[in-house]
Amino acid sequence: MLRKIANYLTQPLGPVTRLLGRSSAPALPVPEIHSREHHDISRRDMSRAALNVLYGLNKGGFEAYLVGGCLRDILAGEKPKDFDVVTNATPEEVQKLFRRARVIGRRFKIVHVYFGQEVIEVATFRALSEPDEREESEHGMILRDNIYGSIEEDALRRDFTINALYYNIDNFALYDFMGSMEDIRRKRIRIIGDPDRRYREDPVRMLRAARFAAKMQFELDPATEKPIHQLGLSLHQVPAPRMFDELLKLFLTGHALASMKALQQLGLLEILIPESGKHLHDRDSGIIWQKLIEQACINTDIRIANERPVTPAFLFAVLLWPAVVARTEKHIEHGLPFAPARQKAAGQVIHAQNEITAIPKRFSQVIREIWDVQLRLDKRQGRHAEILVADQRFRAGYDFLLLREQAGEIEPGLGDWWTHYQEEDEHGRLEMVRQLGKSAGPAKKRRRRRRKPAGPA
Ligand code: ATP
Ligand code: MG
Repeated sequence: MLRKIANYLTQPLGPVTRLLGRSSAPALPVPEIHSREHHDISRRDMSRAALNVLYGLNKGGFEAYLVGGCLRDILAGEKPKDFDVVTNATPEEVQKLFRRARVIGRRFKIVHVYFGQEVIEVATFRALSEPDEREESEHGMILRDNIYGSIEEDALRRDFTINALYYNIDNFALYDFMGSMEDIRRKRIRIIGDPDRRYREDPVRMLRAARFAAKMQFELDPATEKPIHQLGLSLHQVPAPRMFDELLKLFLTGHALASMKALQQLGLLEILIPESGKHLHDRDSGIIWQKLIEQACINTDIRIANERPVTPAFLFAVLLWPAVVARTEKHIEHGLPFAPARQKAAGQVIHAQNEITAIPKRFSQVIREIWDVQLRLDKRQGRHAEILVADQRFRAGYDFLLLREQAGEIEPGLGDWWTHYQEEDEHGRLEMVRQLGKSAGPAKKRRRRRRKPAGPA
């Protein structure tokens, strides 16, 4: 999570950099300053570490502000996830002030200041225009004037008005350059500057718009929403690891269902998971897939609300499942037996998805295991059930099976059997498996086949 602002701030901005460089600079905004008695941000809302950094900078003779998401969250009555600080001190100056501080980033440096477990990100006010790549490589360093700016410029570069408030530790006042307070009060998400240009400059802002709408239950301003419907595909140009991080923030921070709905409403779900997204519109199975993913989101949100662990692997296993099923069917039509068809489909789906959201190996491995367990859950005879239930992937695979039954993808029954099996003691389990042997089905067939060669002798 802490990488996020660093990622953003160190991303080359491409088109806009040049554009701003060429055109005359936009007029700088004048802040509305709300003194302490006119706003609800208290130092009690801030972490010890954030306050230490703010005071440390201030004592060192620099300006120090809390900025962005943390203020938005406090004003909306939520607990901030982390605290971001901006200052007029350069990263090197910041580093000198704190014992445990590390400068990170290449193009635009920021400082991580550590206090115990907490990390505070400290950025220097960012300028509107930046040197282009050529200038950077020729000189080997970026000229200070080109890269660091004023608080006004910094405000103009932020994404949404709700993320552009500044709290000055010097006088405890809130600086509102963009009508942020009003937008937070009206629960309205408004992008700063020309919407079309700001999304082209960094398409991730479209996902951020969806995320804040979902997380805060805010409305997107019509002008902020409109270009998203046209520009969604530009997300495919964003580096896949960054996309993965954004997806986690959308789906694994307690508001997955709302995120899913917001993404669908904006036409972005199909861009994030194109293959599965396409099948959500299938005439017969579309409703099932929609239900499957929604239910997974609901379960994820409940787990997070109960502070239980969640893994991205399970969520991705669900999100990609419609594509796996569809591809499996295709391979079967082309003559592959079921199991190899499933294996092949699984590999292909993960491979294709990696192009969009790079799924780290440690998760894609687990995703495939969860899918593999789906095949194994059916084979319960002999020692199969006993072995599977002890498998470290059993639990996730079993949860996945329940979801599939719940969504109506498969007939209910198998899930119940496994629920029951887990509740039984050793003797009960053996009996359950024995009962299976008695009922007609694949087990019987297999036994008959095995006996065959012995018959004639
Ligand atoms: P949260 O921490 O809940 O995810 P946040 O708004 O704090 O939300 P961060 O990613 O922590 O999001 O970013 C901190 C601040 O940096 C934002 O509030 C915003 O002002 C600015 N910011 C982040 N990403 C972008 C972006 N892509 N474009 C412009 N400004 C951004
Ligand atoms: Mg933040």
